[in-house]
Amino acid sequence: MKSDIAISQSACLSAITDVAAAAGIQPQELIPQGQYKAKLSYSLLNRASNAPQGKLVLVTAITPTPLGEGKTVTTIGLSQGLKAIGKKVMACIRQPSMGPVFGVKGGAAGGGYSQVAPMEELNLHLTGDIHAVTAAHNLAAAAIDARLYHELRHGEAFEAKTGMTPLGLQADSVVWGRVVDMNDRALRKITIGQNEPGKTINGIERESGFDISAASELMAILALASDLKDLRARLGRVVLAYSKTGQPVTAEDIGVAGAMAAILRDAAQPTLMQSLEGVPTLVHAGPFANIAHGNSSIIADRMALGLADVVVTEAGFGSDMGFEKACNIKARAAGRGPDAAVVVATLRGLKANSGRYDLRPGQPLPESIFNEDAEALAGGFANLKWHIDNAARYGVPVVVALNRFPDDSDAELQWLADKVKEAGAQVALSEAFAKGGEGAIELAQAVMAALSQPAQFAPLYQCEQPLEHKLLTMAEVAYGGSGIELSEQAKADIERLTELGYGDLPVCMAKTPLSISHDPALKGVPTDFVVPVRGLRLCAGAGFIYVLTGNVMTMPGLPEKPAYLSIDIDEDGNIVGID
Ligand code: ADP
Ligand code: MG
Repeated sequence: MKSDIAISQSACLSAITDVAAAAGIQPQELIPQGQYKAKLSYSLLNRASNAPQGKLVLVTAITPTPLGEGKTVTTIGLSQGLKAIGKKVMACIRQPSMGPVFGVKGGAAGGGYSQVAPMEELNLHLTGDIHAVTAAHNLAAAAIDARLYHELRHGEAFEAKTGMTPLGLQADSVVWGRVVDMNDRALRKITIGQNEPGKTINGIERESGFDISAASELMAILALASDLKDLRARLGRVVLAYSKTGQPVTAEDIGVAGAMAAILRDAAQPTLMQSLEGVPTLVHAGPFANIAHGNSSIIADRMALGLADVVVTEAGFGSDMGFEKACNIKARAAGRGPDAAVVVATLRGLKANSGRYDLRPGQPLPESIFNEDAEALAGGFANLKWHIDNAARYGVPVVVALNRFPDDSDAELQWLADKVKEAGAQVALSEAFAKGGEGAIELAQAVMAALSQPAQFAPLYQCEQPLEHKLLTMAEVAYGGSGIELSEQAKADIERLTELGYGDLPVCMAKTPLSISHDPALKGVPTDFVVPVRGLRLCAGAGFIYVLTGNVMTMPGLPEKPAYLSIDIDEDGNIVGID
């Protein structure tokens, strides 16, 4: 089979104006950005909200392995399968971050004959939304550091000089760092405001650091805002620092929220693209599912649900990660949950979850993982069973998609399908990678059958419950562990955030995706683990409390052999080497 990029580049794509017209998007709602991309205007949001609403299908997966489970392949493949059986369908996916594109993971457009195209445009910049998030984030950083500098420099005279009331800022009370859309470990910890001896012109010297843009609170805001007005209000609530007396200092307090909104105005419009078989696909926002909430935007969903009968979207990593956050964070903000869940599983992924292999980063993948191995498959099945039960816990019908790789054994796929049926879930083989929509017709039919069942979606906890209670629910119910261990810092954070009145926000867990637990070494279905909570951070604009467990990095690094080594351009300007 040809490489993903070769398939994408040889595809016969329609003009984006034709894709839009077929989707029922009116010419005045379309803002073309070249031939194959277009922004969708806010006027569509109003019209879509008042139209009959489609059904929302959320694609999730077993615990991820370095082998790639194929959620995006299945999301796009399923939407093509639904189109093939005559449904009016749209897909909604996240915009890939360039960190993973150049780092470990490679592109995120799907693969084979189930891709969003042009894939190199999706994977690199697209229409610049992530750059806009980066710029708005760093404007807030520059603004709070400038305010700190001017307040400290002028002291008592600040008010007379500026007409603004001093906020009582101190160097160690700024909680807003900087972001960049790149894997750059050297920026994790930095010192800013360094001066020549005796001078202060470069600002106030303090420790700070960079996160990747996908982890920015503004990325979460872009994904969770229901419209422009909500976006603007959320930006105003972002806490940048605390005063001497411990009071939050927001972007609104220092007057920068409006300018941040101005930077983000165009980024708040989803980008319309197409799949290889012409399914209209909205690309919008890109929070990671381990260090952020891992789902594409509510604005895109709202537009798609007003245009299509079925909308297929994807939540990052396993169902303990992006799917949990879709249900406990995104669904609350959207005022609706998913109507059905698709859990993607692969033979190789389940074998990897048996715990029999050394899959640490940098280790060569064992050849036997790709061969028939009944014992390893049976050992890994428990992980799939856990994810089926986990998705069902939220009250939605579950369909398992067996994502077939070219060399997969028929006998093993049959064995797995039987096991899933025994476990009480619906199952379908997906050959969407090799055959496109044609290979996902069985899956599309299973999903339509699931959508005809009544869903009784419910999140796991009530927001009004105390923070500690919500963290316990996450550890015990969302992950199946035996409790939490709060660090002294976490205890202090809980007390402080509750006193400040933020105790009734949902929690967004920063956790490893490589295990259902907090410990990447625990494979399969871990039990009896205690989730360590290192600290809590307020994301008042996003509307959640960010919880640090284990050793999760908010700025990834590049590996020894990064994906960028193979990326290049040819003389005609074609991009090569992204997979
Ligand atoms: P996820 O969204 O779960 O991270 P992707 O859909 O992006 O996974 O797939 C990860 C990688 O695996 C991609 O390079 C994709 O092309 C490849 N892949 C996925 N499914 C298959 C398959 N059935 N056959 C071959 N390659 C596949
Ligand atoms: Mg994906």
